[in-house]
Formats: sequence, structure tokens, C-alpha cells
Amino acid sequence: MARVGEYRIVNFHGIGTPMRELEPGEADYWISRDRFVTILDRIASHPARERILITFDDGNASDLEIAAPELRQRGLYAEFFVLTGRIGKEGSLSADDIRTLFALDMRIGSHGVGHRDWTRLTTNDLVHELESSKAHLEQICGCPVNAASMPFGWYNSAVLQQIRSAGYRAAYSSGGGSAKVDGFLKPRNSIRSETADRWLDDVLSGQIPFWRKIRSAARTKLRV
Ligand SMILES: [Zn+2]
Repeated sequence: MARVGEYRIVNFHGIGTPMRELEPGEADYWISRDRFVTILDRIASHPARERILITFDDGNASDLEIAAPELRQRGLYAEFFVLTGRIGKEGSLSADDIRTLFALDMRIGSHGVGHRDWTRLTTNDLVHELESSKAHLEQICGCPVNAASMPFGWYNSAVLQQIRSAGYRAAYSSGGGSAKVDGFLKPRNSIRSETADRWLDDVLSGQIPFWRKIRSAARTKLRV
């Protein structure tokens, strides 16, 4: 955990070959095992390593099969945001897989149930996504689940309010840049297949060029 006020969060999705049918546009968020290992090495050897956090979205089987062993080899830990509607399905984590990750000192968070756009749900449907996924994961892990990551990184003020009301202490977006230790909304930097080393170095060092912040803010605003 960071000792200063800000840290950077790097977010992964799938690694290697998907073992399930991908959603439209999702392939861009899958990277090869070699690329993943290269990025982890950069994180593990970074001078500001203690200010870099790692997360995974979607609960893909590669979280345990590929990511966890590589993390452990480097003394790294991560938080895995699971879609409870996919637990046990081909290509996704099973309940036992989640327990194994937890036993490896990884953290487990909720990505909801069905990978839906939370900004477009009725209040009842959003509450279901938030509360039932939380309860399901807490039952599997036997401990509180306090963080949620928002599908597609999309949110608005009503979504954030509902996440708080459901008992979460943090909401992870994909807004880019640095995150504050005590902030409820935590922007992350998602790795894509096209992610360049230079961009990654900027992210890891907390030196996001100004124009990227502007672009990120504009993109977030469009979703509000
Ligand atoms: Zn997702």
C-alpha cells in the first residue's frame, strides 16, 4: 500500500487465449502471456513499485491460471473483480478458483453480476447487481467484500451513490491517472493490446500528460 497520498492502479482483463466467447470490443483488452509478463516485470522493478496497485476485471480463468503464479513469483499482489454471473462457467473463475486466489492473499472485489452498464439500469436492477454480487462473493470468501469495479468504467453520480449505499468503500473506474489513497472513486489505467511501453512508463511514474487527462475526463463526462 502507498505511503503517500497517491498511487497508480494498473488494470488487466484477460491474458492468453480466451476460453469463452468475447463481448463486442472486448478482444482489445486481452493481451498475450508474454506481454503480461513483460508488464509485470516493469512493475516489479519500478522505483515506485510500492505506489503501484494491480487489479483484474471480469473474473477470467486466466486470473488464476496465468496471472496469480506470475504475480507470486514477483512478490506482487492484486485485487480481482469478479462477475458473479459467470462463476463456474467455461473460461471464467469457479468458486474454488476464487477461494484459491483469496488463499494466495489476493483480494476479491465485485464487478457485478452480468457485466451490464450500471448507468442505464433501473435502481432495482442496479441494487441487485451490487448487493447480490457482494453477498455471493462474501459467502465464497468468508470475508467482507468492500470494493466494486464498474463495468466498462462507466458511472454517474447516481451509480456512485448506490455503490456507497450497498456498503462498498471504494468504486474503481477506468478514468486513468493517479488515485488517492482515501478517495472513494479510484481511477485506473487499463492495459489494452495496443498499450505502448512509453504510455505504461508514464502511468507507472504518475506522469500522465495533460492532454490525456483532458481526453479521459471528456470520455468520462460523455458517460454521465
Ligand atoms: Zn468488465
